[in-house]
Amino acid sequence: MPVTSLSVPPLESVRRQLVGLKMARSLEVLDQIVARLEQKQLSALEAMDLLLAEELSTRETRRIRIALMTARLTQLKTLESFDFSFQPSLDRNQILTLAQLGFIERRQVVHLLGPPGTGKSHLAIALGYQAIKAGRSVYFATLAEIIASLLKAEREGTLASRIQFLTRSALLIVDEIGYLPLAPNGANLFFQLVNARYEKGAMILTSNRSFREWGEIFGDKVVAAALLDRLLHHAIVIQIEGNSYRLREHAALMPQELAAAATGAEPAPRRRGRQRKEQVRSASG
Ligand code: ADP
Ligand code: MG
Repeated sequence: MPVTSLSVPPLESVRRQLVGLKMARSLEVLDQIVARLEQKQLSALEAMDLLLAEELSTRETRRIRIALMTARLTQLKTLESFDFSFQPSLDRNQILTLAQLGFIERRQVVHLLGPPGTGKSHLAIALGYQAIKAGRSVYFATLAEIIASLLKAEREGTLASRIQFLTRSALLIVDEIGYLPLAPNGANLFFQLVNARYEKGAMILTSNRSFREWGEIFGDKVVAAALLDRLLHHAIVIQIEGNSYRLREHAALMPQELAAAATGAEPAPRRRGRQRKEQVRSASG
């Protein structure tokens, strides 16, 4: 049923139609735009343009806010707020190319490797934000969170649907590989997820450990090899070799031997069976 009628004055009719169309922002700015129109500050066409632009930009802002929540990207980091000059080993152009999101179209895996505090999570989140702005779906979690959710789903008999859920987003960001020891069966469940996503969707993985430590991280060399087989196929490996941004003002307070372990500056003897995050060596890719 048309909401407009000849007996209704045009402004009131516009108002009713904006209500009918659920164009809340346009409705909000209508009077103001009409006033400017009457004062000849705007042409009719400019007024229409402004009315629609206000609605579109409000909707876009809301869409991005909801998508960020859905992606679990609550702590927003952007490429604009990343200081590339602090991290000279990082190829700025390579990161800006990633921000063009071709890797999502190609369903590639991006590995961000480096010591703690070098901006791995920041860059992963910033790329996730770029993807969301471009309308792609994103999901962010730490490896520990993903494995905990898979273990829970397995206990509850809903593993298949959990894996399906984690396979849905165009980009899955798995943060902090290698920080915490994995629960038994964790590696196996993560492998099932990686296998389900393989060549179906893009991933960004961040880690402070090198690939050769994956056997230790995942507690099983065979599973680690199978994981790497898939995660290094079509992969883009970015190695950050630098100082912690967190410690930029207090680097002197970090005990020397821990700092050396964290930056890989010193060829620390390989300690078997250790699952400590301090033991970080750069990966060769
Ligand atoms: P990582 O994940 O490598 O341990 P983060 O990305 O969490 O490190 O970085 C630690 C903190 O420092 C975050 O608050 C992050 O936003 C900030 N940060 C790291 N590197 C930079 C940088 N180059 N420019 C601006 N902020 C940075
Ligand atoms: Mg991190």
